[in-house]
Amino acid sequence: MPELPEVEHVVRALSPLVTGRRIVAAELNLKRIAPGISRAAFDRRLRNSLITSVGRRGKYILFNLESGHTLTTHLRMTGKFVSLTHDQSLPPYAHVVFYLDDDRRLVFCDMRQFGRMRIFTKPPKEIAALAPEPLSDEFTETYFLETLSRSRRPLKHLLLDQTRVLGLGNIYAVEALFLAGVSPKKAANKLSKPRARKLYQAIRDVLQEAIDAGSTLRIDLADGNGSYFETPERFWRVYEHEGEPCVNCGTPIRRIVQSNRSTYFCPRCQR
Ligand SMILES: [Zn+2]
Repeated sequence: MPELPEVEHVVRALSPLVTGRRIVAAELNLKRIAPGISRAAFDRRLRNSLITSVGRRGKYILFNLESGHTLTTHLRMTGKFVSLTHDQSLPPYAHVVFYLDDDRRLVFCDMRQFGRMRIFTKPPKEIAALAPEPLSDEFTETYFLETLSRSRRPLKHLLLDQTRVLGLGNIYAVEALFLAGVSPKKAANKLSKPRARKLYQAIRDVLQEAIDAGSTLRIDLADGNGSYFETPERFWRVYEHEGEPCVNCGTPIRRIVQSNRSTYFCPRCQR
């Protein structure tokens, strides 16, 4: 599943292609991609809309329209956008097709069909409730310290709660805790301020590092086959390294399960 840094790269690839384009027609071929709206209404809401910008909130991709509506897309497991010229045939699993005014089609393909789209004027709860963007100025150290002090949950749980700290999936949460030298089991409100500051910096570092590394991601909007994210394995410091020596101290990395997700950590470096 793509994490925030990968979605950021999809937005960067989409933006120059569709910003300033008008949607001539919108074809919803698989209804479950946009629940709660008929095929006709989907087309009606989007037809003749100018796309003023493409943005992101967490892992939601936002197409902002001149009409005041926003079309959001969550890629989930295998969702991807493909941009086609008028003479190219549709790729497999082409569930939504947007006809644009430059004779191109923006196609949403999704083999597993978990991707979701929604059209709204006012952000729905699941978007409005998201914590500040982790790399924005709103995600301040003060915000983070206060968020920790208000929770007795184990840090790993808190870091995965997107309404408190946005942008960390399981891998990045595990890596950030390792970088900061903090135990994933520690209660959030028991973390000292200096260590909380270290964790704050580690969160921003792992995400920034992933975004920078993502410049090598092959997000090719002209390619209708495969997934965006079939990339060579990234280097993780502790994630999926159970039993292997810690890169800092050589102690074997341990794996535990927290809320049904695997947590990897060094019992010596992370207290
Ligand atoms: Zn260690």
